[in-house]
Amino acid sequence: MALTLHVNGDRWRSHLTDVLARNPGLVPVVKGNGYGFGLHRLARKAAWLGVDTLAVGTYDELAQVDRRYDGSLLVLTPWRPFAGAPADPRVIHTVGRLEDLEALSEQGRSTGQRPRVVLERMTSMLRHGFSAKGLREAGRATADGHGVEVEGVALHLPLAKISHLSEVDRLMTDVVAAGLDKRGEASRTIWVSHLTDAELATLAARYPDFTFRPRIGTSLWLGDRGALSVRSTVLDSHPVERGDTYGYRGRSAPRAGTILVVSGGTSHGIGLEAPTGDATLKARAASIARGGLDAAGFVRSPYTVGGKQRLFAEPPHMQASMLFIPAGSAVPAVGDEVECRVRFTATTFDAVELS
Ligand SMILES: *Cc1c(COP(=O)(O)O)cnc(C)c1O
Repeated sequence: MALTLHVNGDRWRSHLTDVLARNPGLVPVVKGNGYGFGLHRLARKAAWLGVDTLAVGTYDELAQVDRRYDGSLLVLTPWRPFAGAPADPRVIHTVGRLEDLEALSEQGRSTGQRPRVVLERMTSMLRHGFSAKGLREAGRATADGHGVEVEGVALHLPLAKISHLSEVDRLMTDVVAAGLDKRGEASRTIWVSHLTDAELATLAARYPDFTFRPRIGTSLWLGDRGALSVRSTVLDSHPVERGDTYGYRGRSAPRAGTILVVSGGTSHGIGLEAPTGDATLKARAASIARGGLDAAGFVRSPYTVGGKQRLFAEPPHMQASMLFIPAGSAVPAVGDEVECRVRFTATTFDAVELS
């Protein structure tokens, strides 16, 4: 038994279809560890949702999704000459520099198969993309319709903002200045991230000639946390008296209790610090700490045992973690499962169980 992500299948699927219904033109994003589920599993889910385009983070990730999903594949990392990008008609490249646009156009002219591209406009994120002037130049460079097939403009907006609308308005001015509003329907697609449903509705009404397509990862796959639970298995338990030594560094127990060995360690992404919890969890950890364990330098773990977030008895090991359960608390049996709070995008599960 292992560190397992349990998914309530009916509840998860109904959340996915809800998000799709609220976001017409949805482009599911799968990247990295596949938000904990694995890229291959999410690619199949995207096929099941029936969307026409799936976004991946990198060219290297394409191989994990392209046989499980047969629509268009938008690569979010911008094209570079050294990216190892395939000349695949299913792939939509993101382009944010004129020299890259020229290289792709050249490829299109020489092969007769025009690469599909979206032109990325730099946002306040300052990650990738054309400046306003660069976008106008890109508009001119692609105006003859030769070389590449422009399938719209990409905007990657920051997460924590009151409203994105004024920023998107400014960026849309640049899109219009680049002449992209005069092109065919595909060019008038705006691929966006991190907009609320209300912002999307406002933009759709304000720019009726354009189609806004939201790229969504986190709030799609992980948006209904109640459908997901992460559980670890109790592998061993050892009663200790105050002063007994344990662990890699021969620490001594600050008081009587149990060393509980549970599955999940650094190889799974279990870190020394638990993911930031809510106030009540902090308060609980603090009250445990007041019992004397803080003096022993114990650190809050992401594991919950008997309704309480427990402390690491020592830093997590590769495949297992040692917790300290003070005397007086009920100790789960070997084979029992305990809850674990994780950052899904940074956790490698041993198994994903979909009911
Ligand atoms: C990751 C990513 C997204 C999706 O972000 P979430 O916060 O997971 O929804 C959208 N667009 C780009 C360019 C990204 O890199």
